[in-house]
Amino acid sequence: MDYSVMGAGELSNALLAIEDQVVTDVDGNLAAAVEIERLAGPLGDELLLARARLCAASLRLRSGDVATATRQIYALLEWATRYGDRRLLARVYHACANASLLAGDADKRLEQALSAVELLDETDTPYMQVSYRLRLAEALSRSSTIDAARPRFRQAEQLARELGYWEMLPVALNNWAYGEFLAGEFARSEQVANRLLEHAAAHGVDLGPAYLDTIGAIQIENGLYAEAERTMRLCIQRCAAGESDNADDMAEYQLTLARALRGLGELEQAQAGLDRSRSLCAERELHTVLARLHQEQAELYAARGEYAAAFAEQKVAFAAAESLRVRERQSQAQTRQAMFETAEARQDAERFREQARLDPLTGLRNRRYVDEELPALIAGDPDLALAIADLDHFKRINDTLSHDTGDQVLIRIAELLRTGLARAAPEGFAARLGGEEFLLVLPATRLAAAAGHLDEIRRTISGYGWRDVTGELPVTISIGVAAVGETSPRSLSATLATADRNLYAAKGAGRDRVVSGTPPEHRRRAYRDR
Ligand code: GH3
Ligand code: MG
Ligand code: MG
Repeated sequence: MDYSVMGAGELSNALLAIEDQVVTDVDGNLAAAVEIERLAGPLGDELLLARARLCAASLRLRSGDVATATRQIYALLEWATRYGDRRLLARVYHACANASLLAGDADKRLEQALSAVELLDETDTPYMQVSYRLRLAEALSRSSTIDAARPRFRQAEQLARELGYWEMLPVALNNWAYGEFLAGEFARSEQVANRLLEHAAAHGVDLGPAYLDTIGAIQIENGLYAEAERTMRLCIQRCAAGESDNADDMAEYQLTLARALRGLGELEQAQAGLDRSRSLCAERELHTVLARLHQEQAELYAARGEYAAAFAEQKVAFAAAESLRVRERQSQAQTRQAMFETAEARQDAERFREQARLDPLTGLRNRRYVDEELPALIAGDPDLALAIADLDHFKRINDTLSHDTGDQVLIRIAELLRTGLARAAPEGFAARLGGEEFLLVLPATRLAAAAGHLDEIRRTISGYGWRDVTGELPVTISIGVAAVGETSPRSLSATLATADRNLYAAKGAGRDRVVSGTPPEHRRRAYRDR
């Protein structure tokens, strides 16, 4: 498909087709998602870009690039949480649950699968409705009990039927049957598997090899060896015809067939099947299948009455299972590391964000911080007082002494403001608005009290031992104060304007003073005309 000629809307639909696919050609779809991701950037469609990224990361997870994929998915969790798009967040949680499954973190997986389902609403696609519930059911069956999971599996089946989502129904039934099978509920798993077979027969669906393997394994546990043999021969035939999306699966299917044959007493044929499976395992380094193969080999020796060989093979099986667990733990540790690194990156971003809100010279908050935080502070505090402070004749210090000296003065002023404010209003803060102008914020402080505190700070500044820094030149500050509750209208901009007007009144009245109540008509002119 040529995505390059598509606009954002068409790309979004093309992406949806990949996102909502049941059986996927992982590599082909990954390439397509990456291409859409590349094209979404220049279109400036952030949501499309995030979806494409998530889709690519989810496919990467399936293709085995687990650490990279996990890192990307967790970065998207951050982004989606901030961006606030419900559906994207549901998709991200679904992907997180898949990553947690691979990380071996059952609790987190359950929590994330639940979040994905909780975020769903009726406008979401049938794929999301059914597969997210299915994923939740699977998570419940692993970390809780199959009894807790069963209602969810049933719900997924019913939804697929109600929505007429025939592509998904076999998936729902297969995964349910497998869940019952793993829980040792063999009779129940057979009932579900039979519904799967009935559906396939009624709708002319050819069940793929993976389904047939589940059914075969269930038949074996229920003693239906002849049926299992038939199922597995068909399964292997389909897999050989290239119907399986993973060539590694053949080893697994041969193993299941061998178990069916042992059940039938066809021990030589069973051995031949095991040998085929073993050579595939060796060729493709399939440790998981190999561990189970050793177990089956031990059973087969025992069935032949070769107990010494069975005992020896049992030991090999045990060691293989143990080394498999070690491998699993290692790869789970890698995935968890990827999650952890993302958390670290988030802390870095946090630190960076804090840095960006501080003034590098004085270490005080800067204008950006004020712009971001002040509106909420004002809204939540009817008795907030604000002051704007400006150094007096600061140009003189710069010009007569040096710019460096000017900086030294600014640094000390900042410290005096900080400590003075810490005493007057511990919840408050000082910010450098720019140049030699500062904003002082005093929460829960009435105007008169604020003026008193600020005058104390002003006196501390003028009385400070500046001689070491500026020699003969005095350093003083002028301050204009205003209180939100005593300003009309009670808004941030009106309060700031009043404080500013008061500052200029202080300058006009001779500097080195605090002014808190200037009538509106007094305004800046008093200062400019001086
Ligand atoms: P006034 O009492 O009327 O406020 O007089 P002033 O000299 O302080 O006047 P004005 O506010 O116009 O001058 C501010 C000066 O502060 C101008 C600029 O050179 C200086 N300045 C601004 N930022 C910095 C800085 O980061 N470091 C230094 N050393 N000087 C700065
Ligand atoms: Mg100034
Ligand atoms: Mg000044």
